[in-house]
Amino acid sequence: MSNANGNCVFCKIVAREIPAYVVYEDEDTLAFLDAKPINPGHTLVIPKEHHANIYEIPQELLKKVIATVQKVAVAVKNGVDSDGLNVGLNNDSAAGQEVYHLHFHVMPRHEGDGYELWHGDIEQSDEEKKETVERIRGGL
Ligand code: AMP
Repeated sequence: MSNANGNCVFCKIVAREIPAYVVYEDEDTLAFLDAKPINPGHTLVIPKEHHANIYEIPQELLKKVIATVQKVAVAVKNGVDSDGLNVGLNNDSAAGQEVYHLHFHVMPRHEGDGYELWHGDIEQSDEEKKETVERIRGGL
C-alpha cells in the first residue's frame, strides 16, 4: 500500500507480515477474524489503505468498505447462525478505539448472550436540542 503505516498492526496484516484469519478480500478491502471476539465469527472489515478513522478516509473508499461490511455481515450471520448482528466503528480513544486503522466490527449476537448496549438517558430541553442541532449543522 502506498500509505502503509509501519507501526500499524492492520497494515501488517494487509502486507501479510503477521497472520490473520482472512474471511474475505478484494482489491481495496480485507475482512478477518477479531483476535478477541465477543462471539465466534466477530470479524473486522478494513480498507487496505491506511486511514486512521472515519474523519479522514476518502468517501469513495468508505463506500467500498461499507459494501464489504454488508457482504461480510450476511455471510457471518449465516455462517455462525446468529440471531442478530451489531456493526460498530470506534473513533478516538474516548470511543474505545485502540487500533488507529479504520475498522468496522461485525459482531454476531445470540439471544441471551449477555451483552447489553448502553442505555441513553441524557435529558435535554428543547432549547438545548435546538442549540445542539445548530452546532452540528455548523459543522456540515
Ligand atoms: P478498537 O477498539 O475498535 O480499535 O478494536 C480493535 C480490535 O482489533 C480489537 O477488538 C482487537 O481484538 C482487534 N485486534 C487487535 N490486533 C489484532 C490482530 N492482530 N488480529 C485480529 N484482531 C486484532
